[in-house]
Amino acid sequence: MRVSSLFIAFLLLAQIAPAVARADVIRRLPTDEKVIALTFDACMGHEPASFDRPLLDYLLTRKLPFTVFVTGRFAEHNRADMERLATIGRVTFGNHSWDHPNTMDRYTTQATAAQAARADAAIEAIVGRKPAFFRFPAGNFNTEGLAAVEAQGMPVIHWRWATGDPSRAETADRLVARVTRLVEPGDILIFHINGRGWHTAEALPRIVDALEAKGYRFVSLTDYVASPRVPPTALDRAAALARQAMERVTLGAAGTSPLGAVR
Ligand SMILES: [Zn+2]
Repeated sequence: MRVSSLFIAFLLLAQIAPAVARADVIRRLPTDEKVIALTFDACMGHEPASFDRPLLDYLLTRKLPFTVFVTGRFAEHNRADMERLATIGRVTFGNHSWDHPNTMDRYTTQATAAQAARADAAIEAIVGRKPAFFRFPAGNFNTEGLAAVEAQGMPVIHWRWATGDPSRAETADRLVARVTRLVEPGDILIFHINGRGWHTAEALPRIVDALEAKGYRFVSLTDYVASPRVPPTALDRAAALARQAMERVTLGAAGTSPLGAVR
């Protein structure tokens, strides 16, 4: 009896713990299923950068779900592409700061909050919604900055291991070999879609095919990581509407409907 109540208490704590322990970066999907989330950074500070056209075309043609982390400057410089991506349901936008400072681990809370807020405004003005997640440039952050970004409603998505695609020394063969060797269920893969993933467009189709052959499927971050900024799915909305309709019927039958009282 005592053991079983302890066990139940443990289960309850295990349920509660993740909700309490906020302010940490997310490095993998919370699942053991053979699923992978593809994420692409569209970094741009003061040097102009554009979408890697063959890579983007591949993702769209192959109908893969993916998240693109864009800086505010990148979004403004690539307005037409951003508008087009905004019409595709399986594309999620992430905030990658305003102008990609690589030293946000040394930023004050206010400076980090300002980077995130300015990018938010730029991205929302173009795609019509706030980005769902945040990713720090070069993965550099401090605890206060992380909390500031989370306070704006963005979970922070990083990675468990880097694919290495922004290195000029990488070849497509080595990228394919590394990813297929290191990948585990729930991994969040990080690549670059701003023209700085030198062999990504060449490697990704081979990576996708290889992982699918191993039994993996590609999922959206939003399917596994809740963002306060992502509205509930159509199914959730339908259930909420049905509940509201039931409540109206019940209230009406009991004669306590506010509308009934007016009449
Ligand atoms: Zn970046």
